[in-house]
Amino acid sequence: MALVIDVERCKGCGMCAAACPKKILAPDAEKLNRKGYNPMVLQKPEECIRCAMCATMCPDVCITISED
Ligand code: SF4
Ligand code: SF4
Repeated sequence: MALVIDVERCKGCGMCAAACPKKILAPDAEKLNRKGYNPMVLQKPEECIRCAMCATMCPDVCITISED
C-alpha cells in the first residue's frame, strides 16, 4: 500500500487531516510548494489504517492510495 500526497497541488486546507481518524496528517513546516503552502505529510505511516478518508475528503484529489 502506498499513500501518495501530490505536494505541489496541495493547498494546505487541512480537510484530510480533519478527516483522518488516526490524526497522522499534518502540514510539513519545512516544505513550501509552488503555490506557497506547507503541503501535508503523513507523519506516522505505520499507524495508517488505509481507510482512505483523507483521499475521499481532499477537494483537490491530491491524495492517492494504491495497493501494491
Ligand atoms: S488512509 Fe485513513 S488513516 Fe491513513 S492517513 Fe488517510 S485518513 Fe488517515
Ligand atoms: S485536503 Fe488535499 S489540498 Fe487539503 S491539505 Fe489535504 S491534501 Fe492538501
